[in-house]
Amino acid sequence: MTSHPSPSTARPGDPCPAPAARVLVLNSGSSSVKYQLLDMRESRRLAVGLVERIGEQTSRLRHTPSATGVTRERSGPIADHDAALKAVADELARDALGLDSPELAAIGHRVVHGGMHFTEPTVIDDTVLDEIERLIPVAPLHNPANLTGIRTARALRPDLPQVAVFDTAFHTTMPESAARYAIDVATADAHRIRRYGFHGTSHAYVSRATAKLLGRAPEDVNLIVLHLGNGASASAVRAGKCVDTSMGLTPLEGLVMGTRSGDLDPAVIFHLMRVGGMSTDEIDTLLNKRSGLIGLCGDNDMREIRRRIGEGDQQAQLAFDIYIHRLKKYIGAYYAVLGRVDAVAFTAGVGENAASVREAAVAGLEGLGLAVDAALNAAPGDGPRLISPAHARVAVAVVPTDEELEIATQTYALVGKNR
Ligand code: ADP
Repeated sequence: MTSHPSPSTARPGDPCPAPAARVLVLNSGSSSVKYQLLDMRESRRLAVGLVERIGEQTSRLRHTPSATGVTRERSGPIADHDAALKAVADELARDALGLDSPELAAIGHRVVHGGMHFTEPTVIDDTVLDEIERLIPVAPLHNPANLTGIRTARALRPDLPQVAVFDTAFHTTMPESAARYAIDVATADAHRIRRYGFHGTSHAYVSRATAKLLGRAPEDVNLIVLHLGNGASASAVRAGKCVDTSMGLTPLEGLVMGTRSGDLDPAVIFHLMRVGGMSTDEIDTLLNKRSGLIGLCGDNDMREIRRRIGEGDQQAQLAFDIYIHRLKKYIGAYYAVLGRVDAVAFTAGVGENAASVREAAVAGLEGLGLAVDAALNAAPGDGPRLISPAHARVAVAVVPTDEELEIATQTYALVGKNR
C-alpha cells in the first residue's frame, strides 16, 4: 500500500496538493456489502457496486465504474467481509480508484442504530465502536453487520478517518411525546425501549431536497416524507427537524411494508404464543419476513401486485387496499401533528415509481388541500418533481432519495471540519 504524501515530504515550490475529496460509502449487511465511491469536489459518483452472498459458495461481486458504465461481475466464494472488502479494493484499483489513493478522504459507514447516544455523524474510534456494540440488543439484525464492515475497513486503512452515519440520527429531535411508548417508564428506561425511527438518512436528504424543489429554506417548511421501499416509513418534519416517524424501537412498526406487518395490536403476539403455540423466533420471522404485502398476497413487489390487480386478482387488490389505508392514516396523523403542511414527498422504490400508489394515497384528501394532477403523476421522470395541480394548497412531490450521497456528504463535511 502506498503511503500518503505528508507535509514533511513536500519540497519548497511544489504545487500545493488539492485536499483529498473522495469518500467511499459502505453499507454492510449480514451477507452483503453495498458500496459507492464519490468525488465530493465534483459531486460525482465514480463507482458503485455490491457484494452478495458473502460466506457462501455462490458469492457475487458486481462493480460498475462510472467512467465506462460497464458492469464487471465476479462469481465464486467470498469467505467473509474481510475478503469482500479486499475484492472491492481490487476492483476499484483496476479503475485507478484504489483505496490506497491519497485522493481518498474518508470512509462513511451506514450504521442502522445509534440509539439516543448518536445524534450526529461521528468519527469512529474504539469508544464509538463499543457504543455501537452496546446497541446490538435493540438492533440484532443490523448493528453486528455494520460493525463487521467498520472493523474490516479500519484494518484495511487504519490511517483514514472513518465516519458512522446513523439511520436513527435524524429522528433524535422527536419530542418525548412522540418518542415514548405509553408503558411503565422504569421498565422502558431499563431496556432502552422507545421509538428511535429508521431511514433517517433518506428522510433528511429528501426533506432538504423537497424544500429546494419548493424554492424555500428547510427551516421554512413543514413536510410529510413517505419513504416507500421494501421497508417503508413516514415522517413528519417541521422546519427541517423530525417531530414524528412511523418506525419505532425497530423497523417493524408503522406502515405496511414488503414483508413486515407494520402496526398491529401487541396482543396479537400473546395470542400467537398462547393460542397458536408459536415461539418468539417464529413470531419474529412471521412479522418481519412473512407479513406485509407478501403475507397478504404472496408478492412484495408492487409491480407484480399492480399486474395482478390488472388481471382482476382480488387478493392482490385487498393487499393494495390495506397498504393504502395505512398510508392514508399516517398522512392524516402527521397532518394533525404538523398543523400546517407545505408538501408531501414520495420517495424510494415504490414512492418514486408507483404512480398508482401516489394517486390512491391522496385520493379523497382534497379537504386537506392534497391532490395529484393525473398527467403530472403519470409522467415519467427521474429528478425531483411536483405532481400536484398548479396552485394546490399542499404540494405533492416525487423526490428521489440518495442515501449514499447523503452519507458521503455528511462524512465529507465532518472530516473537512476536522482537517
Ligand atoms: P429497499 O431499499 O427497501 O430494498 P427500494 O427503495 O429499492 O427498496 O424499493 C424496492 C421496491 O420498489 C420493490 O420491492 C418494488 O415494490 C418497488 N418498485 C421498484 N420499481 C417499481 C416500479 N417501477 N413500479 C412499482 N414499484 C416499484
